[in-house]
Amino acid sequence: MLDKVVIANRGEIALRILRACKELGIKTVAIHSQPDRDLMHVRLADQAVCIGPASSAKSYLNIPAIISAAEVTDATAIHPGYGFLAENAAFADQVEQSGFVFIGPTGDVIRMMGDKVSAISAMKTAGVPTVPGSDGALPDDPDKIHAIAKRIGYPVIIKAASGGGGRGMRVVHSEASLISSIHVTQSEAAAAFGDPTVYMEKYLENPRHVEIQVLADGQGNAIHLYDRDCSMQRRHQKVVEEAPAPHIDPEARRQVLQSCVDACIKIGYRGAGTFEFLYENGGFYFIEMNTRVQVEHPVTEMITGVDIVKEQLRIAAGLPLSYKQEDIVARGHSFECRINAEDAKTFLPSPGKVVHFHAPGGNGVRVDSHLYDGYTVPPHYDSLIAKLITYGEDRETALVRMRNALDEMLIEGIRTNIALHQDIVRDAHFIKGGMNIHYLEKKLEL
Ligand code: ADP
Repeated sequence: MLDKVVIANRGEIALRILRACKELGIKTVAIHSQPDRDLMHVRLADQAVCIGPASSAKSYLNIPAIISAAEVTDATAIHPGYGFLAENAAFADQVEQSGFVFIGPTGDVIRMMGDKVSAISAMKTAGVPTVPGSDGALPDDPDKIHAIAKRIGYPVIIKAASGGGGRGMRVVHSEASLISSIHVTQSEAAAAFGDPTVYMEKYLENPRHVEIQVLADGQGNAIHLYDRDCSMQRRHQKVVEEAPAPHIDPEARRQVLQSCVDACIKIGYRGAGTFEFLYENGGFYFIEMNTRVQVEHPVTEMITGVDIVKEQLRIAAGLPLSYKQEDIVARGHSFECRINAEDAKTFLPSPGKVVHFHAPGGNGVRVDSHLYDGYTVPPHYDSLIAKLITYGEDRETALVRMRNALDEMLIEGIRTNIALHQDIVRDAHFIKGGMNIHYLEKKLEL
């Protein structure tokens, strides 16, 4: 097993990684920015190194400082968590070149998946269903572009190959605005991502977001851990997730799960990963692959019993997967509500001191949070302060438990979006399940 791991992240995921390390007897090093010295995992880690000031650019994104911290603490491996440097291929390369284990796939695989054009082409070759599209970057010739759009059929969406975080996309409804929209997206992409490459896809009007969790050991073994539905989104940010995705055609599910496993083996994938799909009219359409642990991984852990972070650590240590596909049984249902330090109506961030924190509990309730009484949520980072996760032997039980848990949860001193969640879990359409990605925003407009 790995001897000592640097946790190159903060907040709840840093604590999540620390707990997994402790279970496996791995020593931990917390790295943190100056205002983050009071984070829960910093207190619990074997060692802690302050790597810079509040600004992420100078701390959690500061590659030399993080690698130096690994060197001075004599660590073996670096876990990037999610966000920050988790999908930065240059970071993965530099970690390995400096003699440490990067807990994730190789830099080359991260690079391939980070470029959506190459990711889609790799997936297509591997047999994963993709959105009908331009099959690569758009050419310069307007006649050729018009022909592609005609073949795909309007509406189409122009997307930046290097885009991310829901940016660098533009929907085009008719021929008249096609070329000008492409030019605008190209210049935006060049400015935001340093790469003007764009491609075209059919714009699906009312899809759901359904994603598949995979694990692969890079030694020829890969498994899936079933699916999650993350369609409850606001501004492309997930708000509530659940596993398994409700009301999915069983044959379409079986096929897409198998195609993800096959793709992992074909591309030599290593570690935990997520294939993101749009799901519409019974069909799955690949949009991107995330090469890291995801915020919503706990719902999958609840229904499969697999500890995804522990598997990441084992794979990084060079061990084969601890499970075979036939060992994985999806049982029951799980929900996750992302609790943010923000106003439940205006969504304005609400950092500050948490005067009192009471976590809910009981059968089938899990809270992943770094909060404690007196902890001050700094204004510099993501507003996620807790993940409330429930499990039930069926969807309804998990949902009832979520309602009760949200009502029990108390976070005083700052504003949170708990009231928004209380509303969502009582919404008749949400209770039915299977709403599309526009549902929450439409509901919020009412
Ligand atoms: P990012 O990396 O920026 O998150 P994605 O490719 O994952 O970009 O797309 C983000 C979101 O944009 C999707 O979750 C979906 O809401 C919307 N989207 C992307 N592609 C399409 C498409 N072809 N049709 C409809 N919506 C799309």
